[in-house]
Amino acid sequence: MALPAHSPSSGVIVTGGASGIGAACARALAEAGRPVALWDLVDAADVAERISADTGSPAVAVTVDVTDAAAFPAAIERSRETLGSIGGLVHAAGIVEPLATGDLDEARWDAVQHVNLRAHALLVQALLEDLRATPGSAVVGISSIEALVGQMFLPAYCASKAGLLGLTRSLAHHLAADGIRVNAVCPGYIDTPMTRGNAPAELRAELAARSPIGRLGRPEEVAAAVRFLMSDEASFITGAHLTVDGGATAVDR
Ligand code: NDP
Repeated sequence: MALPAHSPSSGVIVTGGASGIGAACARALAEAGRPVALWDLVDAADVAERISADTGSPAVAVTVDVTDAAAFPAAIERSRETLGSIGGLVHAAGIVEPLATGDLDEARWDAVQHVNLRAHALLVQALLEDLRATPGSAVVGISSIEALVGQMFLPAYCASKAGLLGLTRSLAHHLAADGIRVNAVCPGYIDTPMTRGNAPAELRAELAARSPIGRLGRPEEVAAAVRFLMSDEASFITGAHLTVDGGATAVDR
């Protein structure tokens, strides 16, 4: 039997769409013919304009804080003007706090959980009616290899990203009957503003050496996995996570 040849054409909301992995996901989805809404704390209008000009797919920037669920209805309405039907969510907005146990600070702990984890649950909830109404709907959360291995200086981040995998499985179970697939991607070390801002050149070189492929990943390499999971080619995949880490977690280093 032939596999579905193409992706759904419904619109996708991509959080963290102004930068790094989120911006690459928005571009990859637009290249597949999907209208995209780039949600971010910062104004992503220039990124949206470039994506639209390069791909011919409509793209809109929506400035919104993903920890503020009260702002979602207006942001969804604004997105709908460009997307038409909404059949997808990619939650790529994320923050990292180097916060070893011993230095735990409640506000910083909560901020990491709220952006990386709680927002995903509240976004799916806010979009449920749209996703249910749109055939082929799919959701992807950007987790991390830190969900799979312990990084001693990032307990809040590790917990949030592992929580995202648990949430993914729960949502997949709940929403399968509605025809909504829910998956996650676990990137390894990717060359983005987040990595550049938090890791000096020496550390980046060390991180690159941890994968057998021997370099940092590119945002586009994560986006390709996201685009696959969002497409009908992944029609029997739900509740799963796909690791995109150059083999870093596959080897004994
Ligand atoms: P970037 O910092 O480049 O992009 C993250 C974007 O999310 C930024 O534009 C940021 O805005 C935005 N953002 C942060 N908080 C909020 C918020 N409350 N509401 C809306 N937008 C927000 O990071 P990456 O592209 O590297 O990371 C994307 C995702 O991938 C994150 O979830 C990260 O944890 C994950 N990841 C990254 C890896 C890497 O090596 N880079 C590895 C594994 C996972 P602002 O700049 O204003 O903060």
